Amino acid sequence: MTSMPDSTASVQSDIPPGDTPMIRPTQTKIIATIGPASSDRVIVRKLIEAGVRIFRLNFSHGDLNQHSERVAMIRDVALELNRPIAIFGDLQGPKIRVGPVADGGVFVPTGTIVIFQREDDTVSADDRSPRFTCTYPGVIDDVVPGQRMLINDGAVRMLIIEKSADEIVCSVMNGGLITTGKGINLPDSTLSVKIIGERDWKNVRWAVEHELDCLALSFVRSALDVQELKDGLERIQSEGKADYVRMPVIAKIELPQAVQNIQEILVAADGIMIARGDLGVEMDLASLPVIQKKLLKAAQDHGKPTIVATQMLETMITSTIPTRAEASDVAGAVFDEADAVMLSGETAVGEYPVIAVETMRRIVEQTESYLATQSAHDRPPVTISASNQSIAALTHGVWTIANDIGANLIVVWTKRGHGARFLSQNTFHVPIVGVTSDLRVARQMQFFRSVIPIVMPVPENLADMVAQVDRRLMESGLARKGDPTVLVSGGPLGDERIPHRLAIHTIGDSS
Ligand code: PGA
Ligand code: MN
Repeated sequence: MTSMPDSTASVQSDIPPGDTPMIRPTQTKIIATIGPASSDRVIVRKLIEAGVRIFRLNFSHGDLNQHSERVAMIRDVALELNRPIAIFGDLQGPKIRVGPVADGGVFVPTGTIVIFQREDDTVSADDRSPRFTCTYPGVIDDVVPGQRMLINDGAVRMLIIEKSADEIVCSVMNGGLITTGKGINLPDSTLSVKIIGERDWKNVRWAVEHELDCLALSFVRSALDVQELKDGLERIQSEGKADYVRMPVIAKIELPQAVQNIQEILVAADGIMIARGDLGVEMDLASLPVIQKKLLKAAQDHGKPTIVATQMLETMITSTIPTRAEASDVAGAVFDEADAVMLSGETAVGEYPVIAVETMRRIVEQTESYLATQSAHDRPPVTISASNQSIAALTHGVWTIANDIGANLIVVWTKRGHGARFLSQNTFHVPIVGVTSDLRVARQMQFFRSVIPIVMPVPENLADMVAQVDRRLMESGLARKGDPTVLVSGGPLGDERIPHRLAIHTIGDSS
């Protein structure tokens, strides 16, 4: 057990108290998807110690009982380690899958004809062409001949050549095995499928009940899709509650339409995930690196956090070392200032979940150390289009002061985390300590690059706040006596209850 002063005993921070050996958190946040390979207290603890600050629950796999157990376990370990660890739920959205196929699947050779039909009651392999159904029968109304239909992450490729009222005829361009539940991508079609299905809404309710910190929505096409989830969340969250912390929504960018509509999506959503798995099927793989770079830049201009996801260390599902290309990929996301990098199968079903996180942390650390030597403060703050003038001015002021005094740290008191978010999107290259009195807000701040969340009771006055911050930072080893710091509180960046201040502070000077 750790030894903590009584006054902070019930308070969580991202800084281990007392004598816990401290791994300084990476500025780029590490996300681990929890699954069968990591649903174990000891492993969860090791993942957090290795650098994970956010866990992803994937609603596409597992049932809600399993997810409940996982949430309880993560929260428990987080409490034990005294850290505000975030959890988000990933909603499946309108992922279309192949309907039931005979055991072992059906192999469809290149150059043959395959039929997809509306109803599954008559599915049978007739003597000429194999027949399939899919989980969204409306697909037959939405597609037109000439469009592509890709199955199993693009492994099987077909061209739709004919359509009638109840079936579509496809020519197989790239043959392969089709089995039950394989994903279907229709990159050329605009689907009228509802963005959030019944099963998704059930997951949304569950997420609210379990106080998840955020929801991600798959296959977003436009801002309207994001708004639908936000409206639903507001209804569910406000049921019987006057005051609640709004659950943020991350739009997963994995369709060509989403890439096209990115500006409006960035206005509506609280962040984006560059979901390279489906994006790499839906679009030309060769265009992916440039799309990733553009999406990261666009999100930064809007002051919204980003997650780079899928296949970051894919080979570590079965190997203890990544490929050189994977190491470079993780570093590339850090160079381009992603807020978070995500592991999927590596930690959910892989053989080496902890080694994968340790590897990711080491790559992130070395990349960030290099970035820190590259004239850290030489770039003025970006203009965040969504922000107002006083926030932009204050952010610019903080940046200038931090630059001039060579600050090691920025401390911001924030009620809902917005202050920390604005600072985070402006590339300070020094940690931003986000102080709040709300544990839920602290967990939500984990999504912001460079932000180290701390929970603290609302201070009596500014002197009290400075004294508390000083003590916590020195105890943790995150700051030393004499470190120059910029302190921001109240006003547009923080909490109206706290006096509005922008101050230069020397750590340890409060007593
Ligand atoms: P998924 O999303 O893992 O839910 O498919 C991520 C992606 O498509 O990259
Ligand atoms: Mn996906």
